Amino acid sequence: AHQQADKTIDSVCPYCGVGCQLTYHVKDNTILRVEGQNGPANAGRLCVKGRYGFDYVHHEQRLTHPLIRREGVPKNPVDLLNTEQVHTAFRQASWEEALALVASKLKQIKTTHGGNALAGFGSAKGSNEEAYLFQKLVRTGFGTNNVDHCTRLCHASSVAALLEGIGSGAVSNPLMDVDQAEVIFVIGANPTVNHPVGATWIKNAVKKGAKLIVADPRRSDLARHATHFLQFKADSDVALLNALLHVIIDENLINTEFIKTRTEGFDALKANVATCTPEAMAPICGIPASELRAVARLYAKSKSAMILWGMGISQHTHGTDNARCLISLALITGQIGRPGTGLHPLRGQNNVQGASDAGLIPMMYPDYQPVGNTEAQRRFETLWNTPLSSTPGLTVVETMQAILAGTVKGMYILGENPAMSDPDLNHARKALAALDFLVVQDIFLTETATLADVVLPASAFPEKTGTFTNTDRLVQLGQQAIDPPGLARQDLWIIQSIAQGLGLSWNYQTVEDVFDEMRRAMHSIEGITWQRLQREHAVVYPCLHEGDAGQAVVFTEEFPTHSGKARLVPAQYRGAAEKPDVEFPFVLITGRQLEHWHTGSMTRRASVLDAIEPEPTALFNPSDLNSLNIQPGDKVSLRSRRGEITIFARADSCTPQGNVFVPFCYAEAAINKLTHAALDPHGKIPEFKYCAIAVHKN
Ligand code: SF4
Repeated sequence: AHQQADKTIDSVCPYCGVGCQLTYHVKDNTILRVEGQNGPANAGRLCVKGRYGFDYVHHEQRLTHPLIRREGVPKNPVDLLNTEQVHTAFRQASWEEALALVASKLKQIKTTHGGNALAGFGSAKGSNEEAYLFQKLVRTGFGTNNVDHCTRLCHASSVAALLEGIGSGAVSNPLMDVDQAEVIFVIGANPTVNHPVGATWIKNAVKKGAKLIVADPRRSDLARHATHFLQFKADSDVALLNALLHVIIDENLINTEFIKTRTEGFDALKANVATCTPEAMAPICGIPASELRAVARLYAKSKSAMILWGMGISQHTHGTDNARCLISLALITGQIGRPGTGLHPLRGQNNVQGASDAGLIPMMYPDYQPVGNTEAQRRFETLWNTPLSSTPGLTVVETMQAILAGTVKGMYILGENPAMSDPDLNHARKALAALDFLVVQDIFLTETATLADVVLPASAFPEKTGTFTNTDRLVQLGQQAIDPPGLARQDLWIIQSIAQGLGLSWNYQTVEDVFDEMRRAMHSIEGITWQRLQREHAVVYPCLHEGDAGQAVVFTEEFPTHSGKARLVPAQYRGAAEKPDVEFPFVLITGRQLEHWHTGSMTRRASVLDAIEPEPTALFNPSDLNSLNIQPGDKVSLRSRRGEITIFARADSCTPQGNVFVPFCYAEAAINKLTHAALDPHGKIPEFKYCAIAVHKN
């Protein structure tokens, strides 16, 4: 029987970008249960993570005191500390002592080596206000633009292509618009696992008659509902998409009026795909020419067609090219700017959209004002009353390289776990361990925190109030339901304390104070007041004045580019940076699984989720298991040119022959030891979706 709650608090799910609204049922500062709220993105629905992934907040391993590394204890990037070893490696400290040490070390590095010797990683798990203050601290207090977060490992290439093509990195239409689409094209995404409530809207639309095209190297659950399922080869996205573009142009299925009045660059695109016939592309992408033609016709001829994509598109060295092709598909057919059409890169973390909007990226101030643009720089210098650097900062992977090159010497990491999430982890961990000073702010002693000099205990999602922006550009209010444990503090308080320690005269009293400043900094949310959020709980941007309802579907008249027109950008097929060979014959694809979230720091400490998926598994096509003489459940070694792990084998007919799929949330089998750090040249995103590995039975 349900225990009776003392109170109920409405908030937002901390996990994926769908942004489901929920209610915490609380008794004696303990969350008893969670139920779905009637939010605009979920209408009462929750997936297993949202419903059961909450008791991590009460886990015994929560950090409750600031920690300082004991004198002389070395940082070991190979054998990270376990929880027991922490007691000998770190000592508890007061906030005064920990904050004083952080301030003096950061100041010392800045004075000796300059602001660019410092860097900060913020987090898409934090609120908009935390992201905004964090990037402001790095830009004004550290004196550098070296600030980034996990968007770099997520949709950076999509955003690069979207900004270049249509002038805005966010979605054009909300996910719920699938309800109005005649055709839904899902590529490089597994929404049933990664955006589960979003997937239910897609399935509902199909039930009502929408045609679904699913394209992915792995067969997903959604493929069962598809009119066409294209199981293409893992690095051949551009070949597949160029074939679709070729058919649409060749068969004159284009929207001539839209191309003429609202786009630029059609002739170059047409010339680029002239030779990309379905027959020429079929051997590269592995999809029969007849199927490519059928899909191109279905998409182009429909009254309304919507494209949704995920990390399968973005996490490649050709991620920007992949997204460019998707943008071209929508533009040459005029499938954008109306309900049920458009481009929807499915956001991963619940606030990756908001953190990016708030300027947690090295080359953009808040609201995507470019660093290096004099007008933007003057504007923020005036608002923040501080001179700013005009040089764009380092991205996530570049920061790791800079540490090993000796140019970055001190870091502040809030809520990110690069010792699990970065590619080529042995290299990344070596870099983190090489820092002169690392301060980590988190709720658990993450793998990254074990390499820190100072660890600051932060607040978990239900322990603070703030705004979060979901994949639909909906700004939603998350509200504090319980108090943080022990001496753990609100993240905003910690950021502000570090800023004050560096000599900045910040004095934000409330979250609302920070949000008000954000409204002054960001034109797109000017119309969203705190009172309105308290009243309405969710407001979509762009929202330009207080009476503005916000615009859920954008680009109805023009694109936010200089000319008002969209730009068609051709792309050529290049393939992956590292191909299988005799020594490393398998293709490794990494990703997530339904029950666990990113590096697992929260969900692996959520009792129900951990009980469902307690151990690391690598998914193999059954025929590969047969030929390797491996039984499901056997331990196997996976090895790449960069590292090796041991993991349990699982049979999975959805994974194609010659490929291995591994979730990246298991510290004991950290798959990113194997992944390749080669970057997309535009989005600077690493190629998590493709590298060559060898498999051996243990
Ligand atoms: Fe949370 Fe996403 Fe699940 Fe909704 S679909 S409950 S936002 S994890």
